[in-house]
Amino acid sequence: MNENLLIQVEKKLSKCNRCGTCTAYCPVFLQTNEEWYSARGRMALLEAVTKKRIKENAFYRDVIFSCLYCYTCVKNCPVGVKVDEFIILAREQYIGKKGLPLIQKLGLETLKNKKTLGSGIKTLRLLNRCSPRFIKKVFLSLLSKNGNRIIPPFAKKSLSEQLPEKIMVKKPKLKVAFFTGCLIEYIYPEIGISLLNLLKNQRIEIIIPKEQYCCGIPLLTSGDREGAEFLARKNIKLFTTLDVDYIINACATCGSTLKDYERLIGKWKLKNENSDFKIQNPKLSVSNWAKRIYDVSEFLVKFTDLKFNPTRETKVTYHDSCHLRKRQGIYEEPRHILKSISSIDFIEMEEADFCCGGGGLFSFKYYDISKKIAQRKIHNAECTKTEYIITGCPGCILHLNDILTQKKSFQKAIHLVELLR
Ligand code: SF4
Ligand code: SF4
Repeated sequence: MNENLLIQVEKKLSKCNRCGTCTAYCPVFLQTNEEWYSARGRMALLEAVTKKRIKENAFYRDVIFSCLYCYTCVKNCPVGVKVDEFIILAREQYIGKKGLPLIQKLGLETLKNKKTLGSGIKTLRLLNRCSPRFIKKVFLSLLSKNGNRIIPPFAKKSLSEQLPEKIMVKKPKLKVAFFTGCLIEYIYPEIGISLLNLLKNQRIEIIIPKEQYCCGIPLLTSGDREGAEFLARKNIKLFTTLDVDYIINACATCGSTLKDYERLIGKWKLKNENSDFKIQNPKLSVSNWAKRIYDVSEFLVKFTDLKFNPTRETKVTYHDSCHLRKRQGIYEEPRHILKSISSIDFIEMEEADFCCGGGGLFSFKYYDISKKIAQRKIHNAECTKTEYIITGCPGCILHLNDILTQKKSFQKAIHLVELLR
């Protein structure tokens, strides 16, 4: 570990008083009951590495990579230790020295090149059509050791292949750009289409820039900060040149990452590299970047009359995605929307803000833990006897529906915008 980082880590680590409050909340610790898998344990190990008391061995690797990046510990730490920053720093250091597994490296590199990504997805779609069993056996087993896992296939046409880049409306109230994110773009375009119809009905003009990139979170949480920064710069450059008032998203993870770009790239760097960003739209400049990014639920509450019709009359409960509630502080808005529709029966579940266990790449590597965490969530959801689990994150939808389907549950997870029109 280089000297500067060592000092940085030691200074920050000294803030943790080892009180153990975080152990009462960490979903991974609650499942494994092993100290090393709590925030306190992970940080103690990181400290031991920085002080060269232990080596960065396979056990250390396992401890720093088996964190969901769910922010639960940060939210509940009485002295405000930024555990998430340590986790990223530890992964960055580790990967800097030891590198990523080849398949993961190739996958992440693809996200940096739109052409390669597009061709890769087309090839996978074709293979899936010709031989879905091959895809399930070879491709999914490379990603996850659990053969029972149900991962939805890539959509026949991605969202941007289905829509023009600009959706005009008469006398627009507002103009927004839609940051789609990879899951909505390639797997759940129907979520994007629901959102666009909803906004069109509210007389909001929408641009869906075709040149947008992944938000960067898969790279950041894999320890490739440089790669994540590369994608962040691409997105900032693109979106700040658009003639729009706001940037909206329907993915809690993408939204929290976009809002955090300043922390990722660094305030100083952003302010001193304006020439790099060629800002043409003062409304969306680098300096007010985070303030112009809205999750769809907060956008609807703030800028619309909330006169929606439901796409179905039904009973629903709501799951708080960690990246929406704990990272962005958004939890009242989706509930406000659900309660405002008279034909929707909204029933709050116990522990609505408990993590679903998905955690992006976490669920591929630690599927068994991930599944057990989801089972607690699903038990609480099923107790409400509702038809749908509504949420604001496609990643949670993917993970919850996998476990719900395997369990043959009567419930299904869908996105908030799929319930509205
Ligand atoms: S991270 Fe916070 S909650 Fe956890 S042991 Fe340290 S001080 Fe206590
Ligand atoms: S971010 Fe979540 S999984 Fe990671 S240590 Fe904190 S509470 Fe545990």
